[in-house]
Amino acid sequence: KGMESTILQCDGVTVDFDGFKAVQGMNFRLEKGELRFLIGPNGAGKTTMLDVICGKVKPTIGKVLFGGKVDITRKKEHQIAELGIGRKFQTPSIFPTLTVFENLEIAMRQNRSVLAALRAKLRAEEQERIEAQLEMIGLQEKASWRAGGLSHGEKQWLEIGMMLLQEPEILLLDEPVAGMTDNETEKTGELLRAISQTQSIVVVEHDMEFVRNFASKVTVMHEGKLLKEGSMEEVQRDDRVAEVYLGK
Ligand code: ADP
Repeated sequence: KGMESTILQCDGVTVDFDGFKAVQGMNFRLEKGELRFLIGPNGAGKTTMLDVICGKVKPTIGKVLFGGKVDITRKKEHQIAELGIGRKFQTPSIFPTLTVFENLEIAMRQNRSVLAALRAKLRAEEQERIEAQLEMIGLQEKASWRAGGLSHGEKQWLEIGMMLLQEPEILLLDEPVAGMTDNETEKTGELLRAISQTQSIVVVEHDMEFVRNFASKVTVMHEGKLLKEGSMEEVQRDDRVAEVYLGK
């Protein structure tokens, strides 16, 4: 694949927290439409990499390029979000007292205040967009539920739906299936597959069984560095990977 299909590129990224290098000389390249898993033992630097990409943490050295050429290394978090990189944290940031539908409505009208977003009358095509999103995240039956009353898994899906209505080009997800039931985990897998039809996704994941369900490329980090990259099969066959992560 040529340069034109690269959606995200990190070159020699180092993050130094007061002398401690959480990430060290990390190279990472994501192709358009890819669903990539970022794995590695606790403290490997995975979350810090997501923080660097979304602009929450600034690298000490190195560069982050969006769309293969737009340098976002020094841009502010909100600017990076506006450019089309959406980050989902482990704790859902939904409005628990509002309905599922209202949460999606607010997300779609991100540039207005919450009250203005709820007061503005929905146009037919906006209504359709929300309905389609409800269907994708499997919450059409619960559109009028208070978001706070949803299960843990459903809250995660709602938040993913809210992100998708902001039409990001890249989604960054940090352990999306953590705390989910088996059934919810399976549904989340289907959701990720559906999303990857139209968007590029980076998933930090701890659950190896979950990652095995995908034919995706896997990036393994260890002690802030790239340890191995390839298919799950290739990665699992690597002795160093087995040593630091899978064999434990
Ligand atoms: P992972 O997501 O792979 O578990 P992290 O990126 O969260 O790893 O952390 C990598 C290392 O950097 C850990 O040792 C962690 O303690 C350290 N670290 C993360 N954030 C900070 C911070 N703000 N200040 C100091 N050390 C940090």
